[in-house]
Amino acid sequence: SAFKMTAAPLDASKVKISRVSTPSKPRPNDELVFGSTFADHMLTVEWTKEKGWDVPEIKPYGNLSLDPSCAVFHYGFELFEGLKAYKTPDNQVTMFRPDMNMKRLNKSAARICLPTVESEELIKLMGKLIEQDKHLVPEGRGYSLYVRPTMIGTTAALGVSAPDKALLYVITSPVGPYYKTGFKAVRLEATDYATRAWPGGVGDKKLGANYAPCALPHQQAAARGYQQNLWLFGPEKNITEVGTMNVFFVFKDAATGKQELVTAPLDGTILEGVTRDSILALAHEKLDSNNWIISERYFTIKEVAERAAKGELVEAFGSGTAAVVSPIKEIGWKGTDIHVPLQPGKQTGPLTEQVAQWIADIQYGKEKHGNWSRI
Ligand code: PMP
Repeated sequence: SAFKMTAAPLDASKVKISRVSTPSKPRPNDELVFGSTFADHMLTVEWTKEKGWDVPEIKPYGNLSLDPSCAVFHYGFELFEGLKAYKTPDNQVTMFRPDMNMKRLNKSAARICLPTVESEELIKLMGKLIEQDKHLVPEGRGYSLYVRPTMIGTTAALGVSAPDKALLYVITSPVGPYYKTGFKAVRLEATDYATRAWPGGVGDKKLGANYAPCALPHQQAAARGYQQNLWLFGPEKNITEVGTMNVFFVFKDAATGKQELVTAPLDGTILEGVTRDSILALAHEKLDSNNWIISERYFTIKEVAERAAKGELVEAFGSGTAAVVSPIKEIGWKGTDIHVPLQPGKQTGPLTEQVAQWIADIQYGKEKHGNWSRI
């Protein structure tokens, strides 16, 4: 037509809210199982290439109705995010660094030709969604509301091409601590028989397509008594990530006594974890630079094995939204187990424990850190 429509931006002020008739009662904290029960409401927003973002809706949690030919069901046009909201002592509910998740969501969307969002608008909409179910946000250290933004391509046709229709939705789940009875250090299998991500691939994007292929190697490692895969990459066997977490190692140089906190660099094969970024920022702020080096560099399973043999491997832990940090006690590699030290009588190393405390203090509103906590 002669009139060219401009695609509408995502606009939180247009939201339509229809509430459940009977709000559900919060479950006792000890009955919360990660991501298996959901709060009363969800957010949905439809997008078309022609018109842009439609009116956002907050409505009762429920099934979606989709044509079986939709792009998401055949070609994996799907991305997701994961963040948490925390109840603070003054009875507010704050999201932890949601701007970081929005940035990552938009990178994921752009990579698979789904629409990007106005970050601040989606943060506002998530805030409104959380507000509807505020009474279901559990209280206490370790407890939170897990927030799962998701976007799918909904074009109903089997041709493989960029979707001209999409659905953005957000669901939330009241969750308890990952480790109910305190830390439990895990055993990893160094995995070179499957590759999670590769240069030029999409391992740094949060696409559903990255996760399904990891279930089989996870089962294989589990059958041999290891809880998670330590993903190696390339002929050098670089250490990249662990399970669905970023990974940190601590080495101590025997000659100088200096400690090094090290994690893989963001080279396109590493998911850009919000927890990873937070740990690096806090480590730079809080660790004494006379005694510590903080590195984003390549390091290999060979270096870990050699330094463990020399007594220079001090600590190792995974990092991610679900558990925040997850201590590591053993790494299976070439038929033997590399032992990672733990503190006497504990399931964690000293820095792992400290990092968990730093982050929890900010998440639960005991400490303020810039704009990391958002309503
Ligand atoms: N790596 C992978 C592969 C992940 O799926 C996740 C979870 N999003 C992470 C790392 C940790 O990221 P974050 O700290 O943002 O939860």
